[in-house]
Amino acid sequence: MRKEIDILGLTYMIEEQAEYHSYGQVNHDKQVITIDKGISDERKRLTLLHEILHAVLHQVGEPDMANNEDFVHRLSTGLYTTLNPYLKL
Ligand SMILES: [Zn+2]
Repeated sequence: MRKEIDILGLTYMIEEQAEYHSYGQVNHDKQVITIDKGISDERKRLTLLHEILHAVLHQVGEPDMANNEDFVHRLSTGLYTTLNPYLKL
């Protein structure tokens, strides 16, 4: 998994942590995305997309959407399952 990613002009570090309390999390202030090291590679990619969507929505000034976990989950799952066969996310 890559170590950093540019999201709308801001560089976010991507860190994997053992025995993390959730699949992933994004810290907007520190620009850090944390992913659980113990999950499968496929779930890591899905989780990374999920956290990227949190960050994009936060940065475009949509805090309600960015903080709506159910909305972000549905959007990231929909995009992942649709795009993954073509883009190999
Ligand atoms: Zn989330």
